[in-house]
Amino acid sequence: MSAVRLSPSISITLGLVSLTLVLYLFLDVFVGIVPNEEQSLKQSRDQVSSNLALQLGTLLRAGDTEMLQRVMRNIQKHDDSIISIGIRDTQGKLLAQSGLHWKLWTPPPENRSTLNNVQVPLYDRDHKPWINVEVNFRPHSNGSALELLQRPSVAMPLSLLFGGFIAFYLYLRRVLQHLDPSKVIPGRVSTALDTLTEGVIIFDTRGRIMLVNESIKAIHPQAKSIRVGQKSDTLEWLCAGYRNSGTMPPWKRVLQTGRKITGEPMLLPQGNERFKKFIVNASPIHDGEQKIRGCLVTFQDVTRQEQIMAKLRESQQKIQAQNEALQHLANYDQLTQLLNRRAFYERGEEMFSRHKRTGKPLAFVMCDIDHFKSVNDNYGHPVGDEAIRAVTSLLRDNVRDVDIVGRYGGEEFCVLVPGLTAGDAVAFAENLRAKIEQHAGPAVKSVPGLKLTSSFGVSILTPGVASLDAFIEQGDQALYESKKNGRNIVSLYQAVTKESA
Ligand code: GH3
Ligand code: MG
Ligand code: MG
Repeated sequence: MSAVRLSPSISITLGLVSLTLVLYLFLDVFVGIVPNEEQSLKQSRDQVSSNLALQLGTLLRAGDTEMLQRVMRNIQKHDDSIISIGIRDTQGKLLAQSGLHWKLWTPPPENRSTLNNVQVPLYDRDHKPWINVEVNFRPHSNGSALELLQRPSVAMPLSLLFGGFIAFYLYLRRVLQHLDPSKVIPGRVSTALDTLTEGVIIFDTRGRIMLVNESIKAIHPQAKSIRVGQKSDTLEWLCAGYRNSGTMPPWKRVLQTGRKITGEPMLLPQGNERFKKFIVNASPIHDGEQKIRGCLVTFQDVTRQEQIMAKLRESQQKIQAQNEALQHLANYDQLTQLLNRRAFYERGEEMFSRHKRTGKPLAFVMCDIDHFKSVNDNYGHPVGDEAIRAVTSLLRDNVRDVDIVGRYGGEEFCVLVPGLTAGDAVAFAENLRAKIEQHAGPAVKSVPGLKLTSSFGVSILTPGVASLDAFIEQGDQALYESKKNGRNIVSLYQAVTKESA
């Protein structure tokens, strides 16, 4: 069986009401703060009856029976509590009456007045009993619940009970709300919380702020005005961090689910279009019976770190781009955007040794623009550059992706062509030669009708070729043969030694 749990304010209210009631009863017993209503009623009825008897006796003595009857009727008419009045002589004979007194009057026991039946004896001049004035009052209590409730002895404690409960409860709620709970927290605990650089808020189960530390003031310009007892919903600026996120603030989720939330990022608008970024942790606070009593939320400002990280990322990207640019500059020739000689050697060495190892075919083609010096001499250096670019783009367009093309020197170019045997390699070079003869000159727009040709030397990788240098040297020798034999032709290194081109 589980005991009913009362909220602290109701428990305290009940305690206060009980205490007040005990105090009231104590005072009533020993001091008598509640008047004895029967006693005072009896006194007042006796008084009324005495006055009445004196008045009626005077009229009776005067023999004014008519006046006597009228007075009796009037009195009864004006006093609701009187049912009947009678005047009786010592023999028991009714001398005068009003309100069916003969029928309704019940003589009190032992001839002593009671609360409802009061009789006042009057004496003659010789002090002998003369008449009795009898006043028949309405019974004091009709026994109804309402009448019972109206009695001061019941009404006072009851109103104390109910009125006291409501008044105490309302007052306590107000007091508890405005009571600073942080005062309840030991000084060294709040001092410890104040030393944290993270902002801390403790919420109760209804989302009201119970405690904040010093650092919370730094999370937002309006955070300085946070009041203990305030509901988090009233902190517009704080809820703004969640308005567009589609999720409830973490403290509400924690209070709903009882599960803690760690490392949740929150962007908090600061006004003037600036934001601060926080990492929010929220944990439930349990009581001794593992019931959730509140939620502790910390706000770690990571705005500065984020800015530093963003700058770091930006400069990393810049450095990377610069590295790539440098790498490009180091490997590629500026005029032609072909591999320079060093980069050509680097990649060529790798291809050369792989083909040397596997024995797969590899060809080398060397190309040199014919009489190039005269282009420079006749049309100027810029036209020479244009001519070099025209030849380069033809070379680039007519090699395969696997081929390695480089600028070997001024107007000399070289290509490593994997997979081609002697015949194919010569045909490959011949195609390049024909393309240059046909298209390179017309591509130089600044000199209409310019004629450009190139000579080619081809060498084929054989077991006797020991190094890339030797391989290139063979191609160069074949090129020399082409120059010697009239230019604008292709020569194969083997053909040079074994048979005439
Ligand atoms: P050959 O048919 O025997 O090859 O004769 P050639 O005139 O082409 O040969 P030579 O080696 O005598 O001349 C090459 C010229 O190329 C010399 C040099 O000024 C020029 N040259 C080298 N690099 C560049 C360059 O980048 N731009 C320009 N415009 N000219 C260059
Ligand atoms: Mg040359
Ligand atoms: Mg040349």
